[in-house]
Amino acid sequence: MKSPYFNQDHEIFRQTVRQYIETEVRPQAAKWEADERIPKEVWKRMGDLGFLGINHDEAYGGTNQDFFYSVIYLEEIARAGMGGYAAAIGVHQYMSTAHLMKVGSEELKQRILPGAIDGTKWGALGITEPFAGSDVANIRTTAVRDGDHYIINGSKTFITNGVFCDFITVACKTNPEAGAGGISLIVVEAGTPGFTSSQLKKSAGIRLTRARLLLPM
Ligand SMILES: Cc1cc2nc3c(=O)[nH]c(=O)nc-3n(C[C@H](O)[C@H](O)[C@H](O)COP(=O)(O)OP(=O)(O)OC[C@H]3O[C@@H](n4cnc5c(N)ncnc54)[C@H](O)[C@@H]3O)c2cc1C
Repeated sequence: MKSPYFNQDHEIFRQTVRQYIETEVRPQAAKWEADERIPKEVWKRMGDLGFLGINHDEAYGGTNQDFFYSVIYLEEIARAGMGGYAAAIGVHQYMSTAHLMKVGSEELKQRILPGAIDGTKWGALGITEPFAGSDVANIRTTAVRDGDHYIINGSKTFITNGVFCDFITVACKTNPEAGAGGISLIVVEAGTPGFTSSQLKKSAGIRLTRARLLLPM
């Protein structure tokens, strides 16, 4: 039956992603899983193929394709035979940068998005904490304005890409009295003074997805 959602261009895109996964990812997946690391060149290659920009604006190097390209892409990367690979890409492209694309300042977008789309900068999303998983309204990480920057204090856990990322979009309380409404997302670049991370030991299949982060000042 002909799909009401996918046209011929979508199908060509599906074949392109599938071929990439079958020839360049699946054969390497067991090694990356054992190493608990995906080599940086993989992200660059995905950027060169244009995959990392399908859901981002052209102004930052993306191609801003319709939603069904993302549906196809996420279906196909799940064929990699490595849950950690699909999670790493999904978090980078649809969590850490998607928020930035939607509500970030122009300055921040110019600083982060071109590298995220060409595969030279890798992102993470830091929401879960040792004492707050599902209950996001009760996170304890705070961000206090100090002149033209914020001072962030707290820790995060189970963060996909956490030890390898170049930047992380962090959920922080900027107005603790406001409950769930007082939470902001702040982009922290790796290398920021006080930012540390360490790898957690996890179940097979998702070994490279989780890390613990500390953001003390
Ligand atoms: C592979 C993987 C990758 C991840 N990557 C990231 C990431 O990149 N960034 C990030 O921020 N987090 C990440 N996480 C963390 C994930 O978001 C949390 O595990 C999730 O939010 C649940 O939190 P928790 O583990 O603390 O469980 P809890 O919040 O303690 O929940 C435990 C159980 O209790 C249930 N429960 C909780 N509260 C209630 C309630 N009020 N009423 C009824 N039932 C309730 C839950 O449904 C669940 O079944 C990742 C997790 C995994 C497994």
